[in-house]
Amino acid sequence: DTAEVVVVGSLNMDLVVRTPRHPVPGETLLGHGFATTPGGKGANQAVAAARLGATTAMIGRLGDDAHGRALRDNLTREGIRHQAVLTSPAGETGVAMIQVDDASQNSIVVIPGSNAELTPADVETAEALLASAKLVVCQLEVPLETVRHALERARAHGATTLLNAAPAMALPGELLALVDWLVVNESEAEALGGCPVADPDQAARAIERLQALGCRRVLITLGAQGVVAGLESGLHHAPARPVAAVDTTGAGDTFVGAFSAALARGAEVTTALQEGQAAAAIAVTRPGAQAAIPYRHELPPATP
Ligand code: ATP
Repeated sequence: DTAEVVVVGSLNMDLVVRTPRHPVPGETLLGHGFATTPGGKGANQAVAAARLGATTAMIGRLGDDAHGRALRDNLTREGIRHQAVLTSPAGETGVAMIQVDDASQNSIVVIPGSNAELTPADVETAEALLASAKLVVCQLEVPLETVRHALERARAHGATTLLNAAPAMALPGELLALVDWLVVNESEAEALGGCPVADPDQAARAIERLQALGCRRVLITLGAQGVVAGLESGLHHAPARPVAAVDTTGAGDTFVGAFSAALARGAEVTTALQEGQAAAAIAVTRPGAQAAIPYRHELPPATP
C-alpha cells in the first residue's frame, strides 16, 4: 500500500437539516429538507487531494454501522486508499448534526464517535504507508497524541508534514516543531498566536510569532482576502481569485487538499499556492462541502 499524500484524520457523516429558523429549547419545528453527506476535515482534504491528482490514502477510524459503510464506499468511489481506515467493532461513526435556516445560518453539533478512538498504535499499523508518503497531512479532529505520533513517524520516514490546526486550539511548541507546513485560518491563527488576525498585516505579525514558536513555513488563509505565507524567503501575500461565493463551507479543506496535491507532485510553492486558491475559489461558487471540490481539469491555466 503506497500513496503520495497520506491524510491522518476524521471521517464524519454530515446530517444536514433545513429549517425555516432555529428551534428554541423544547420546541418542535417542521423542517423542509434532510440530506446525509460525507464530511469530516480529514476526509474532505483527502477527497480534495485525490481530485486534484495525488494518489491519496487515509488513516482513520469508522464505526461498524451504516454511516461507516457509506463513508468507506465514498472513499472507494473517490479512489482514496482506505486499508488503514480501521473499523471500531463497538464504536459509532462520527456525525455532524448541521441545521441550516432560511438565512443560511448554521448551527452544528459534532459527535466525534470513532474518530476519538484513533490511537498512535493505529498509526503504527500503517507504517509502510507513511514510509511511502511524500506528504503527511493532519488536522485536530482526532486525538492530539495520535497527531503527534503521525507527525513524528512521518518525519522519521523523511516525509514532509503539514498540519491544518483546525478546529482552533492552542498547541504545545514541541508539536509545532514537528510541522513543516502549518496551515490555519483567521480564528485558528488567533488561538495559536494569541493576537487578532483579521487582515494581511495582522496575519504577517501572527506569522512572525508562530515562526518564533518553531514553525518554519506558515500559511494563514483569509477567505476572500487570500493567503499570507511566511516562507524561508520572507512574507508573501497571495490574493484570492475574485468570484461570486455562494457557499464557503469546505473552502479551507479544498485549499489544504489542493495545495498538498501540488506539493506532493513537486510543484513550486507559488504554483501550489495558486492551485490551492484556484481550487478553493471554484469550491465556494458551488453548494456543499465535498460535492463542491473541483477536479484538476477544472483549474484555470496557471498564470506566471
Ligand atoms: P471554511 O471553514 O469555510 O471551510 P476556512 O475558514 O478554513 O474555510 P478560508 O480562509 O475561509 O478557510 O478560505 C480558504 C481559502 O479559500 C482562501 O484562502 C481563499 O483562497 C479561498 N476562498 C475562501 N472564500 C473565498 C471567497 N469568498 N472568494 C474567493 N476565494 C475564497
